[in-house]
Amino acid sequence: MDEITKTCKVCPLACTLVISVDESNPTGYRVEGNKCNRGKDFGIKEVTEPSRVLTGRVLLKNGPMGRLPVKTTGVVPESMIEECLEIFNSTEATSPIKRGTVIIENILDLGVDVIAARKA
Ligand code: SF4
Repeated sequence: MDEITKTCKVCPLACTLVISVDESNPTGYRVEGNKCNRGKDFGIKEVTEPSRVLTGRVLLKNGPMGRLPVKTTGVVPESMIEECLEIFNSTEATSPIKRGTVIIENILDLGVDVIAARKA
């Protein structure tokens, strides 16, 4: 790994982070482009434990379409994505649903909910 560029997703400023290995740093990494320490932590976590906001679809009953687009309210570790998608596939929601309605609460105890990405 030379340098990795990532967009910080912690706040709407969306700083561009450049992360590189730095053995003189106690964390083992150097993060540049962050406007605050939360961005530094996010950048290091992105290379040591990649994660992302997960989007997908769940079954929709009585709706205008067969499946409802959903997304997580926070990041999910890459290692848990498959398991989350299996839960999406076995979840059924019933229309009418407002955008932002919680469809799955605290999925896999990750501290994030799965919400409707649109009304249906
Ligand atoms: S580095 Fe700080 S200011 Fe920049 S997007 Fe991340 S949290 Fe926001």
